[in-house]
Amino acid sequence: MTTATHEQATDKSANHEETLGFQTEVKQLLNLMIHSLYSNREIFLRELISNAADACDKLRYAALDNDALYEGDSELRIEIEHDRDANTITLRDNGVGMNREDVIANLGTIARSGTAEFLKQLSGEQQKDAKLIGQFGVGFYSGFIVADEISVRTRKAGTDASEGVEWRSKGEGEFTVADIERAQHGTEITLHLKEDAKEFADDYRLQGLVRKYSDHIEVPVRMPKTETAKDDEGNPIEGSEVTTWETVNEATALWSRPKSEVSDDEYKAFYKHVAHDFSDPLTWSHNKVEGKLEYTSLLYVPGRAPFDLFERDGARGVKLYVQRVFIMDDAEQFLPLYLRFIKGVLDTRELSLNVSRELLQQDPNVDKIKSALTKRGLDMLKKLAKDKEQYQTFWNTFGSVLKEGPGEDPSNREKIAGLLRFASTHTDTAAQEHGLADYVERMKEGQQKIYYVVADSFNAAKNSPHLEIFRKKGIEVLLLSDRIDEWLMSHLTEFDGKTFADVAKGELDLGDVEDEAEKKAQEETAKAKEELVKRVKEALGDGVQEVKVTHRLTDSPACVVLPEHEMGYQMRRIMEAAGQPLPEVKPILELNPSHALVARLEGAEGDQFGQLAHILLDQAIIAEGGHLDDPAAYVKRLNSVLTA
Ligand code: ADP
Ligand code: MG
Repeated sequence: MTTATHEQATDKSANHEETLGFQTEVKQLLNLMIHSLYSNREIFLRELISNAADACDKLRYAALDNDALYEGDSELRIEIEHDRDANTITLRDNGVGMNREDVIANLGTIARSGTAEFLKQLSGEQQKDAKLIGQFGVGFYSGFIVADEISVRTRKAGTDASEGVEWRSKGEGEFTVADIERAQHGTEITLHLKEDAKEFADDYRLQGLVRKYSDHIEVPVRMPKTETAKDDEGNPIEGSEVTTWETVNEATALWSRPKSEVSDDEYKAFYKHVAHDFSDPLTWSHNKVEGKLEYTSLLYVPGRAPFDLFERDGARGVKLYVQRVFIMDDAEQFLPLYLRFIKGVLDTRELSLNVSRELLQQDPNVDKIKSALTKRGLDMLKKLAKDKEQYQTFWNTFGSVLKEGPGEDPSNREKIAGLLRFASTHTDTAAQEHGLADYVERMKEGQQKIYYVVADSFNAAKNSPHLEIFRKKGIEVLLLSDRIDEWLMSHLTEFDGKTFADVAKGELDLGDVEDEAEKKAQEETAKAKEELVKRVKEALGDGVQEVKVTHRLTDSPACVVLPEHEMGYQMRRIMEAAGQPLPEVKPILELNPSHALVARLEGAEGDQFGQLAHILLDQAIIAEGGHLDDPAAYVKRLNSVLTA
């Protein structure tokens, strides 16, 4: 006994066996995943094949300038076997493999931005979590949905046979790594199936799954096939069994096939491989371009937002191939930031095979391809917009990203503008569902501008006093309340030849919607109220830039208006929150001459007049979502008027 223990201990140190705990996040993911994805268990195979294919891609790339890495075995392949008696499935690839460090990092942690936030969102509610987990991507760990033990034997291509590594785990809290001797480079993964997952140890089942999920992978996926010779009477001849490897998948890169020969299901399966997403894409665009600039692109719009959409260092970009050789994941140079939600593949002959991220920044062809792909991306969205419901799904998910477009990409401004959606007084609901083309179509006779209002919330926008005249005249106004909206509008100057006008800024100009008689009546009122205006200005002093009578209001007594080129209130609040010093703005106070409070103001004397004038100004600022410098003074004045 003593000797055995001793021997074991020596053994352990000889092969550096150590048992390590999974990173906390992995433990949480494992737990949740096994329960939530039970009804979709078969995806483990897709995930493992996808990793094996990536490993082959990586080796092919690394071998470009070091052929020796193939170790004399350049025919990349994936093999799948099962053993019904032992209840196992084994996947083998001769790809790039892993060393000990890689194994511990890759199969012991989750090194992705947004992981913590993702885990916080999980609720324990099976269906909801399954969706979220799918969105996050489960990868290698999905093996534990069907296996109660997994062992991985691997060796990094180009290293010594003694540098093999074995990884073993029951998927509970820990895993074991040990050094092994391994002649073959690449990775072999053996799943020991759970009692209730035995069904997967079956030729037909496995073949079906490979075709369903991995047809599009260029690396051949092979399974053993045993043939038995028959005698003249058709009886199998004992001992004549010959096993050959049969390629099960189509094994051509999907994007290199003609569009007409690829089914929707194949496009969808390929998307899941490329985007590491569980759910279907909303749409895609597959293009093969020949001539001056040769490239093939297959771009997808995902159905859901990834977790890191708004993270600065979030993964984005396309999978880059040069003449069918995989070069890199997340090549971000080929799409603008505002299209960062697009996933897909770019394959081109315009770049050299030894291109690196650094070299990409200098290559003039990159910009050419980028503008071509940008156009493809925008065209794809335009097409998607024909289906209102689908486009709404897209807009609700990625609209706020697309809103960065007009600022980032002036050359495509008009195109992007056509893809924007807004809430509007047309329906008065918060849904951002109105396009500018529809707005223009609905414009009133004589209306020349596209009107909008910006506020901090939809309700504040919808109830803005500035809209009163527009509602009365039946002129549509776009209701903007996203954080980015004022910034967006500062970059949108025109659409379809019409300029944009913020209804809370500058002179009210309703174009030819108003006739001469109306304008004349307004001038007369202004004249009649000259004295009142003067008194109010005196009472408010430096608090306002100017006082005027207005006809924008029907229900409210007063409103504040900003000079035309002044920064709006929303932008000011954002800048203030960011600690930016801002120049003081003095609003213009506009009074509604037909309002009872204004009539009362006109009749007030002395102190009472000053109180009322200040109350009107402060209320107008509040209605705009602005902050009062001295709210207590406002309350005091209001109370004094209420009790007078
Ligand atoms: P992802 O594929 O999204 O990176 P996975 O959980 O599927 O996440 O895999 C984690 C990492 O483990 C991979 O990025 C890769 O580095 C490594 N890996 C997994 N399977 C293999 C394999 N068959 N050969 C080499 N490396 C692998
Ligand atoms: Mg993976």
